[in-house]
Amino acid sequence: MGDYRALAQELGGSVKGKRVLVRSDLNVPLDGSRITDEGRIRASVATIKELAEAGARVVVTAHLGRPKGAPEDRYSLRPVAARLGELLGSEVAFATDTVGESAKAVVADLADGQVALLENVRFNPGETSKDDAERGAFADQLAELADAFVSDGFGVVHRKQASVYDVAQRLPHAMGALVATEIEVLRRLTEDPERPYVVVLGGSKVSDKLGVIDNLLGKADKLLIGGGMVFTFLKAQGHEVGKSLLEDDQLDVCRTYLRQAEESGVQILLPTDIVVDTEFPSGDRDPQPSVVAASEIPADTLGLDIGPESAAAFAVALADARTVFWNGPMGVFETDAFADGTRAVAKALTEVAGLSVVGGGDSAAAVRTLGFDEAAFGHISTGGGASLEYLEGKELPGITVLED
Ligand code: ADP
Ligand code: MG
Repeated sequence: MGDYRALAQELGGSVKGKRVLVRSDLNVPLDGSRITDEGRIRASVATIKELAEAGARVVVTAHLGRPKGAPEDRYSLRPVAARLGELLGSEVAFATDTVGESAKAVVADLADGQVALLENVRFNPGETSKDDAERGAFADQLAELADAFVSDGFGVVHRKQASVYDVAQRLPHAMGALVATEIEVLRRLTEDPERPYVVVLGGSKVSDKLGVIDNLLGKADKLLIGGGMVFTFLKAQGHEVGKSLLEDDQLDVCRTYLRQAEESGVQILLPTDIVVDTEFPSGDRDPQPSVVAASEIPADTLGLDIGPESAAAFAVALADARTVFWNGPMGVFETDAFADGTRAVAKALTEVAGLSVVGGGDSAAAVRTLGFDEAAFGHISTGGGASLEYLEGKELPGITVLED
């Protein structure tokens, strides 16, 4: 539940009849107009519903994909409005622009307790502009549509953008229930976590996750590494990695982390076996994976998943954990043949007797597409970049702006 008491007070006692602008994160993957993973929509429902039930006229703003500051059909939020309405159990009015004639008309038509969704906020260049004045001018237009602002798009709170940051400076504001939950969980991962504390990292790029490794090396007891980033670590240990994903410019950093971990008594676990194939994507042919020792990856192959021995070892390392943070799939889980490592880690997390947190857009999608029950995890974060930046110890502008 969100805490909107202070906000209600600022509005004269209640949100009833007030236009409340809610920044949600509805950035879901689409295949045409089909939503392939609706996790973020589901996570956004609670706050919207709570405000609507309190009688607010709820105006939701969100982005989808990475349009370049102009409308593009394939990034329209229209399919999302329909699905949001189904999940809310009441129709969601859709504005075909964000702050223009359509938005104004749709908002003016809202009755108490009704919900509207504005078209993709990133169709407007002011949203992501680096120029404070341009962003501010757009935030002015957003603010005109509402009496108050609720920040609930956790996936974007690390962005200094008009609908996240500037609009909060222009309206009475509050933190939404989703953002509050996310922050509380992340706080538990950084302040005095229950031990043993195990961090599992995977995914495609080491350079994305360096800051997290840096910050968590001093806090975690064990660090398990898989996914595409593992090959830079294996190479740093002197192994050949064939055609696997490799970031040559990060080799020294990986060596430093391996040494630091040893010095500070943090156990870094790298896979001992790897599932490889001769090419990826495999095109028309079926994948022909084989399992090789991590120290003996053939030159003409690339690693696409951690092997069964490593998956078992990771599960053992997780068995007695009291706190787990996992970010980044262990392999190219989107292809069945390379999903076993990710499946094994996900299963191990469901068995953790303590706080288990899954962070990262692809990791969250992985546990859902692999058929796990979301309730079996302590928390599935909706924000990849935001949770990583929090764990790196960085300030999140979208949170700071709410605290004044
Ligand atoms: P998240 O969104 O959870 O933070 P990332 O975006 O860092 O995760 O990485 C997810 C991607 O990493 C997935 O699309 C997956 O296919 C890819 N990946 C995992 N293992 C490998 C690998 N061995 N080689 C190449 N890509 C990989
Ligand atoms: Mg990702």
